[in-house]
Amino acid sequence: MSRKFIIGNWKMHTTSAEARQLAKAVVVGMSRVARVSVAICPPFPYLALVGEILKGSRVALGAQNLYPEKEGAFTGEVSPTMLLDLGCKYVILGHSERRHKLGESDTFINHKVRVALAAGLNVIFCVGETLVQRNAGRTKTVLDRQLVQGLAHLSAVTLTRLIIAYEPVWAIGSTGHDATPQQVQEAHAIIRHRFGRMFGTKSAEALSIQYGGSVKPKNATALLSRLGVDGALIGGASLHASQFLAIVRAGINEAQTEEESA
Ligand code: PEP
Repeated sequence: MSRKFIIGNWKMHTTSAEARQLAKAVVVGMSRVARVSVAICPPFPYLALVGEILKGSRVALGAQNLYPEKEGAFTGEVSPTMLLDLGCKYVILGHSERRHKLGESDTFINHKVRVALAAGLNVIFCVGETLVQRNAGRTKTVLDRQLVQGLAHLSAVTLTRLIIAYEPVWAIGSTGHDATPQQVQEAHAIIRHRFGRMFGTKSAEALSIQYGGSVKPKNATALLSRLGVDGALIGGASLHASQFLAIVRAGINEAQTEEESA
C-alpha cells in the first residue's frame, strides 16, 4: 500500500463561513500535490456547501456518522441514502467519541457498518483502547473484540470499501499522551493479524489502516513512515488548512520513499 490516505475529521467545529474557507484552502493546496488520497468530513449541516466546493477536485467528501436505516420516523437522524445524495463517498463509524460519550455499542456500530457498506459508502471504522485498558495490558483484547463484533457478518464483496482507523482513546485530542510510532506500528499489526484471521490474508494485506491520535505536522512523518501505517485520520490539525496540508505532504513523501525502496 504505497498511496497514503489522509482524512480530516472536523468534528463539531466551524461555522458555515469557516467551513467554506477551510474547504477552499484544502482544494487549492491539493491542486499542487499528487499521489495521495484525501477526504474531509465536515459536520452534517455543511456537507452540501463543502460538497459544492469539492466538486471536480481531488478531495473527497465524507460524513462523521449515519443512522442505519434508509428512511423513516427517526427524528434528527441522517440516512446513508441522504449522505450519498449529498455526494459523500466516506463515513466515519465507531469513533471513540460516539462509543464513549454517546454510548454506542459494538452491536449498534456493526449494524451501521453493514448498512453503510451495503448502501455503497466507504467506511472508516475506528477502533482503539482507553488508557486504563492499555495500562491493564488489554489493548489486544479490546482491539480484537471491537473488530470481531464491529465487523461481524460483513459481506466479503464489501471489504474493499472498508478502511480501519486505529485511534487510541488516550491519544486523541492533544491529551499530552502521544502514542509512539512503535506503539502505533504494533497496534496496526494486531489489527491486520485479526483482520486476516477473519477475512483471509489477501484481504488483510490489501486493508488500509489509518492512524489517528493528535497527528500534527511535527509527528506525521515519523508515524506515516512506519510499516503498516497507510494514512492518518486527523482531528484538531484538520481545522487548519496549513497543518492539514503539511500532513498530506508528509504522506506523499513517505509513499515516495516506500516506492523507491520497494
Ligand atoms: C479524531 O478524533 O479522530 C482525532 C484523531 O482527533 P485528534 O487528531 O484531534 O487527536
